[in-house]
Amino acid sequence: MNNFAVMERLSQRNAVLNVQASEFKTLAYEMVDQIAAFMEELPNKKVTSGENPNAIKAILGERNLPTSGEAPNEIIGEATNLLFNHSLFNGHPRFWGYITSSAAPLGALADLLVASVNANVGAFALSPMATEIEKQTIQWIAELIGYQKNCGGIFVSGGNMANFTGFLAARKHKISTDIRREGIVFEKGEEAKQYTIYCAKGTHTWIEKAAELFGHGTNAIRWINTNRKQQLDTLALENQIEKDKQEGHIPFIVIGNAGSVSTGIIDELDKISVICKIHNLWFHVDGAYGMPAAALPENINLFKGYKEADSIALDPHKWLYSPIEAGCVLVKNPQYLTEAFSFKPEYYKFDGEQMDGDTPVNFHEYGMQNSRGFRALKVWMMLKQAGKEGYIDMIREDISLSKKLFELIDVTSNLEACTQNLSIATFRYVPEEYSTDNEYLNRLNEKLLEHLQQDGEVFLSNAIIDGNYCLRMCIVNFRTSYTDLIALINIVLKEGKKLHGNMQLQLGINA
Ligand SMILES: *Cc1c(COP(=O)(O)O)cnc(C)c1O
Repeated sequence: MNNFAVMERLSQRNAVLNVQASEFKTLAYEMVDQIAAFMEELPNKKVTSGENPNAIKAILGERNLPTSGEAPNEIIGEATNLLFNHSLFNGHPRFWGYITSSAAPLGALADLLVASVNANVGAFALSPMATEIEKQTIQWIAELIGYQKNCGGIFVSGGNMANFTGFLAARKHKISTDIRREGIVFEKGEEAKQYTIYCAKGTHTWIEKAAELFGHGTNAIRWINTNRKQQLDTLALENQIEKDKQEGHIPFIVIGNAGSVSTGIIDELDKISVICKIHNLWFHVDGAYGMPAAALPENINLFKGYKEADSIALDPHKWLYSPIEAGCVLVKNPQYLTEAFSFKPEYYKFDGEQMDGDTPVNFHEYGMQNSRGFRALKVWMMLKQAGKEGYIDMIREDISLSKKLFELIDVTSNLEACTQNLSIATFRYVPEEYSTDNEYLNRLNEKLLEHLQQDGEVFLSNAIIDGNYCLRMCIVNFRTSYTDLIALINIVLKEGKKLHGNMQLQLGINA
């Protein structure tokens, strides 16, 4: 091409990705039609196709990078077909595994809107309205759970990142040396000392990741025993803190669980907060799962003490039913975040000195990311759609269903009810004459879970309780109803009986 031709082409660019408005409209309408049909069909589908990695790989096909482009409508057709037919659907009324919620449809539309405007919520100047909406969403979440309204906070990808953010704020605030500059250093001859971390046994694995990744090492974690109610033993906590101090270690953070990942236990947060005050330690609450349940007036006692927390991690993509990803951390004082994370590089000019009014909030100074997506919008829209009352109703119903399941199981022969907290119930299948053979029961229930997960009629996960392998149902699902509980019980009874029979045959026992 000669120079003139190049210039002419560049003055009328026709980039392949630059879909025009009318074509966008056609594509989007077609896709939305397919999504709506998928939503309608969802309850009649299996929870998961249960296909193994090789099958999935074969369906996708091993293909090289396309050299030239394909038509967008065909690509959308292919993507929807692959996903609608070969996924696990956590929006299915009978999905109750791990802690993954059904996602509000409005959240899906919000994400489309977010991607369309594509605000970079790292700095006010790059995302004026998005920044303000994120601030308001943080405030609304604080209001929902009854934490102080003028707290600071930031949206992150999920619970791990939310807890990491609280952890880093804690260590900057509580460790007296200039850790951002010096790193973790001790005086000569003090190598054996540690900055120590306290949490109950069974705390989510994020704490190990944090201790490793941020240079403390997992040995700095003090795993405190739990009491008979499986809560952190606060007496043991105090003893351990005192022992560590005597040995020259430097305690800096205690983590309280507000809904443990396995069984939904809430620690005695009020007692922990008092211990933190006495010893001048940071009180972090991991409420990734359970914190929204603090919005229920009947739960006031259960959560007592969380308002004293210096930081709280909470996952909107769990019990606020947001599409993944959405985690957030609240801190008592926004300054705790900037102290830990703020940099002001010379290539950023975000101070807003040229503007009248308040100094703008630049979220890159509040956390680990610079360029940031607008995760808050979907949560903001959902909070508006449901309101505080709507959320209280949904969460309360999840809890009621979980309690109901526990009661039903308790009176069903061959089923043993194990634990029930918040919206998590655990139980196991126990055939007659095997009620004391835990080794056999563990094998049977593990096989049963594998079978149920493959089969896709219902989806549960597991919990190990006092060495017993239990089935675990966590309801963070606004589509689940009472009928689904009855179905679950019948399926577990039927499949449990069948598997037990097979195991008996294998053992050469005539069942
Ligand atoms: C789910 C969960 C986490 C981790 O959250 P992700 O969003 O999966 O990163 C941490 N703590 C608790 C108590 C959780 O339930």
